[in-house]
Amino acid sequence: MDMQYRRLGNSGLQVSTLSLGSWVTFGNQIGDNVAEDLMKMAYDNGINFFDNAEIYAQGKSEIVMGNILKKMGWDRTSYVVSSKVFFGDGRKKPNQTGLSRKHIWEACHDALRRLQVDYLDLFFCHRPDRNTPIEETVRAMNTLIEQGKVLYWGTSEWNAQQITEAHLYARQNYLIGPLMEQPQYNMFHRERFEVDYAPLYKNFGLGTTIWSPLASGLLSGKYNNGMPEDTRLNLKGMDWIKDIWITDEYLTKVKNLAALAADLGTTMPCLALAWCAKNPNVSTVILGASKVSQLEENLKALDVLPFLTPDVMENIETILGNKPKQPTF
Ligand code: NDP
Repeated sequence: MDMQYRRLGNSGLQVSTLSLGSWVTFGNQIGDNVAEDLMKMAYDNGINFFDNAEIYAQGKSEIVMGNILKKMGWDRTSYVVSSKVFFGDGRKKPNQTGLSRKHIWEACHDALRRLQVDYLDLFFCHRPDRNTPIEETVRAMNTLIEQGKVLYWGTSEWNAQQITEAHLYARQNYLIGPLMEQPQYNMFHRERFEVDYAPLYKNFGLGTTIWSPLASGLLSGKYNNGMPEDTRLNLKGMDWIKDIWITDEYLTKVKNLAALAADLGTTMPCLALAWCAKNPNVSTVILGASKVSQLEENLKALDVLPFLTPDVMENIETILGNKPKQPTF
């Protein structure tokens, strides 16, 4: 199926339903030549959004992506590139992390330099910062937009109340509020996306660029029969991901889902990705890939959408057994 595009929330910006991110991979797990092959394959298949952050490989991920963008020479109007501010790029002195006006301003300029672009299409506050008033952050983002250095700003893993506060402050002061949120969303992580944010889609036209759609690879089914060597779970410092995701309960569910995928004539990664894309509140599903073959497979996910009938969705719910309860009043 050809790539599909969705509006990012209530903005006029169109993002491909599948996009490509660089966490763990660019500047770290994979060589720059693989990163280039991935971006090229993505772009050639209609992906128009590339996701990045100051903290990814401590700035190196943005440098690698910037070099590829420059080398490819793609029309700047044909793609959307992001950065995120909060965790810093490895430097940890006061003001080198967080969401103060100072760090937001400096992180934006560092990202522009590393990515070798004149403006960021999307700029995310990577986490909430309890040490900075939301008002300061909203004003700093609004200033960057007015300066033409950022086109749209958003949040990542902010709770519904924090996003609402940012919007209300922006509205009261005729400033531009956050357009999009970047939350984790996958078959095993649903509550906040499906329940907490529900009023935000309606009230603010919130767009979403969702992360870890395969739960760091668990939902690809690759761990169903033991632990392959060359995966992110074996990288130094990644034990915490293993601890979260590699449990008997999840593995049993993934095995049952894989059987369902096979019945549908598809693969486990495509089923899991299509399931995310099926949710109309998802603007784009950010793919991660350490190999070109993975991206090649994942790009077929949209072909599965027509097979996700109400009956199939119900069967998936039965296997997952984790449908979040919506409030009744
Ligand atoms: P996924 O959950 O989809 O995990 C991707 C990883 O799963 C790949 O790197 C690969 O890892 C494995 N994989 C992917 N496809 C296949 C396949 N077909 N077969 C077998 N294994 C496969 O997404 P990510 O966790 O990478 O998140 C995607 C993006 O979201 C990130 O790049 C980043 O841009 C963003 N993100 C944002 C966060 C935030 O806080 N805002 C947090 C995390 C991510 P391997 O080969 O190593 O096993």
